[in-house]
Amino acid sequence: RAKGEGKDRLAFFEPQLQEALRQEMNLLEALRQDLERGEGLWLAYQPIVDLSTGKRVALEALVRWRLAPPSVFIPLAERHRLMPELGEWVLRQACRELDRHGLKVHVNVSPQELLDPTYAFRVAEVLEEASCPPGRLVLEITETTLIPDERGRDATRALEALKALGVSIFLDDFGSGYSSLERLAELPVDGVKLGQAFTQRLGIPPDPQSPPARVVGAVLALAQALGLQAIAEGIEDETILVYLKNLGFPLGQGYLLGRPDRL
Ligand code: C2E
Ligand code: MG
Ligand code: MG
Ligand code: MG
Repeated sequence: RAKGEGKDRLAFFEPQLQEALRQEMNLLEALRQDLERGEGLWLAYQPIVDLSTGKRVALEALVRWRLAPPSVFIPLAERHRLMPELGEWVLRQACRELDRHGLKVHVNVSPQELLDPTYAFRVAEVLEEASCPPGRLVLEITETTLIPDERGRDATRALEALKALGVSIFLDDFGSGYSSLERLAELPVDGVKLGQAFTQRLGIPPDPQSPPARVVGAVLALAQALGLQAIAEGIEDETILVYLKNLGFPLGQGYLLGRPDRL
């Protein structure tokens, strides 16, 4: 009896699974073609603002695709090892558009790219081709790429090679992944971005005694103690902006300060 039920369930799910797989392959194929032709992909830019002056100091490049949001097509590209190509397209495009805004540009790097032993070499090539001064480029690495196992050590070597090129490195969504305090002190990074989950947990208005507010304060203190830059992400509200600014965050990013937009 149990066997029969199992069979029924399989018979029921199989067409759904096949359909999901078919859709995944169609989407993947479309992404491959657009990447090859350089069509249907573009960069949106979101300002990173000096909180003491209100001035834009940098832009974060965020990739957009005609057929799906980044939350869908970036994991898709990761699953099918297309991220190296997509990431290279983003980097090249960001370098090409550098002259149009005159600011530093932040580019997101996926774990797959960073763990490719030739990654720093490829970055060097793109920078050279596009005559991009390395000092204008900031690479954002997610913390989870740096977990202290074999992969973590590879990632550290990759970061060192990138630093040698003259580019800066920020840890993205800092605090949401895993990195020991000691490792953070050792890593060749220039700054951290406080993940927007933290900013959003502050509440409106923020209560400085609440656990989320204490965590945010501690993250800032840690960054300052290590001589790192700190960007607060996900600032959507004026009271949050004022709170983070008074707390001492040098830099901020979020819908209140500017939404991602085409140049
Ligand atoms: P991220 O690097 O942490 O980028 C910030 C994300 O937060 C962006 O979403 C941005 O639109 C959103 N955001 C900015 N300000 C606010 C705010 O005030 N409130 C809220 N609720 N959200 C805000 P987006 O563009 O959808 O990108 C999502 C993620 O996709 C990025 O997170 C990044 O991890 C990834 N991603 C985007 N472009 C690239 C890329 O070129 N390469 C790689 N590897 N990943 C990328
Ligand atoms: Mg989005
Ligand atoms: Mg980012
Ligand atoms: Mg982030």
